[in-house]
Amino acid sequence: MRSSALDRVDALALLRELAGLSHAALLAHPEAALDEASLRALEQAAARLRAGEPLAYVLGWREFWGLRLSVGPEVLVPRPETELLVEFALDRLDAEAAADVLDLGTGSGAIAIAVAHERAHARVQAVDVSAEALRIARDNARRLLAADRPGGALRWHHGDWMRALPSEDQAFDLILSNPPYVAEGDEHLPSLRFEPRLALVGSRGADDGLGDIRELVSQAAPRLRAGAWLALEHGYDQAEGVRALLRAAGLREAHSLRDLAGIERVTAARAPD
Ligand code: GLN
Repeated sequence: MRSSALDRVDALALLRELAGLSHAALLAHPEAALDEASLRALEQAAARLRAGEPLAYVLGWREFWGLRLSVGPEVLVPRPETELLVEFALDRLDAEAAADVLDLGTGSGAIAIAVAHERAHARVQAVDVSAEALRIARDNARRLLAADRPGGALRWHHGDWMRALPSEDQAFDLILSNPPYVAEGDEHLPSLRFEPRLALVGSRGADDGLGDIRELVSQAAPRLRAGAWLALEHGYDQAEGVRALLRAAGLREAHSLRDLAGIERVTAARAPD
């Protein structure tokens, strides 16, 4: 995880954002002096970055699936490896057909919004236990999605996994989640200290990091339509454990997908036909 080092692309983004300069302006007038207010803003941003705060919080946004999502310390910074979950979803959603899709623990709305953006007919719902996160997700959706998409506006629910949903009967064609999966004693937690602990460790902290995943799988598996998929992101050493949990919940074809670093990062299984 990056702490104080900034690569040049990020440094340029920071400069453009804080100085209010377009890329073209930066190229056209490389010799122009920065005004005093911009310099001060840059100094303040540099101090935050030096203290280890993620660039996404300093900028107030992070690009995910080509979409610029607003983010703040109330939500996890969307990670590139989570795009794997979006790819999995898109492979299973017909471009023209309506389907009921659920994103559990949506945070900034990254997964729900990316899927809704690519599949205009999907009826997408999302859950989060944090009301602040839902506010950010809602704003992102309003900004990034067409108001008249055939699948309708995204629906947001506040609460604990499936219990957040208004109906106990509704079933889904696809359930996706990037849940909290960091173990309580994980050595990486200190470097993630700016991000919400609830999004990283969750409220069912366990030595193996699977506390929330266990609960989520047991709640979500019975709500899949026949043949429907449940797909989860998880930690680098949790794929086997997650496959076992999915099988124990009665799901079939449990398998894991590798991220760009070659790590098994997403595991999926489907309900019997
Ligand atoms: N991928 C995050 C990390 O860097 C964790 C995200 C999560 O817990 N869902 O550790």
